[in-house]
Amino acid sequence: MIIDSHVHLYAPEVAADPRGWARARGEDRWVNLAAPLSGRQLQGWSDIDTLLMDMDAAGVDRAVLLGWYWDHHETCIEQNNWYIDWVRRHPDRLHAFATVQPRAGDAAENEFKRAIDAGLCGIGELSPASQGFSMEHPGWLRIAELAAERGLPVNLHVNEPVGRRHPGRLQDSLDDYVWLADRFPDLKLILAHWGGMLPFFEMNKWVGSRMGNVFYDTAASPLLYRPGIFRAVVDAIGPSRVLYGSDYPLRLYPRKQERPDFVRFLREIDAAGLSRDEKARILGENARGLLGIGGATGGVESA
Ligand SMILES: [Zn+2]
Repeated sequence: MIIDSHVHLYAPEVAADPRGWARARGEDRWVNLAAPLSGRQLQGWSDIDTLLMDMDAAGVDRAVLLGWYWDHHETCIEQNNWYIDWVRRHPDRLHAFATVQPRAGDAAENEFKRAIDAGLCGIGELSPASQGFSMEHPGWLRIAELAAERGLPVNLHVNEPVGRRHPGRLQDSLDDYVWLADRFPDLKLILAHWGGMLPFFEMNKWVGSRMGNVFYDTAASPLLYRPGIFRAVVDAIGPSRVLYGSDYPLRLYPRKQERPDFVRFLREIDAAGLSRDEKARILGENARGLLGIGGATGGVESA
């Protein structure tokens, strides 16, 4: 089973006029990444039917829709509502995480509960650096605590600490994520974009002993890293905490791709020198266990 753990999707009215839609909501940061007036345009657009067709074309069984790290609480509600609707319509293909703005305090906590009760199955993608909260912000700690209590995974956008300066790359500290894992050992944490290379710091004994519930997704990997990253991370931490995620509908190969697809990146993974078992875990089994799909953990397998 292939499960893409990192997909974003927007309602048709957003794709039709991203700048107008974002302006009306004060989401300038998002639009400057998704639809910049100048510079490299990496964002592709999709809709629910196209997503399902693209999944079929690549043999992707299920996708986990992640929310964006919005500035405003109201935008989080709007996105959660799209996802609640889409997951209800396609329960055999789609899962979705709820997004929140932790700085909204009680309102964020209530939205978290509402979205989970309505069928969403995790929290994220959140970005402390972009959304303006520290690891010790009380609103965020409450969200992390609730997620740990309920066994729900949390996906965080992690920036690479060293690299090209691009608009999506903000200053954050890998140390903060280790602090979080240490503070909430039961929290199932997914650190996106290979956790900004944090897997290699697990060689440190103290760090490594605290990361049992920390997973790393591979979102946007072709834009950031050479294919050898797959083999190197699996050699560093083993194959059980790596989750295949694409960041669809981002154009991962902007020179070769007019519109987004799942096929090219899966081909890259296929050729990355992983064993059959390692590949099976990364492409689906790890996510299946984490989300409790079709296993003893209580999920429902579809035909
Ligand atoms: Zn991200």
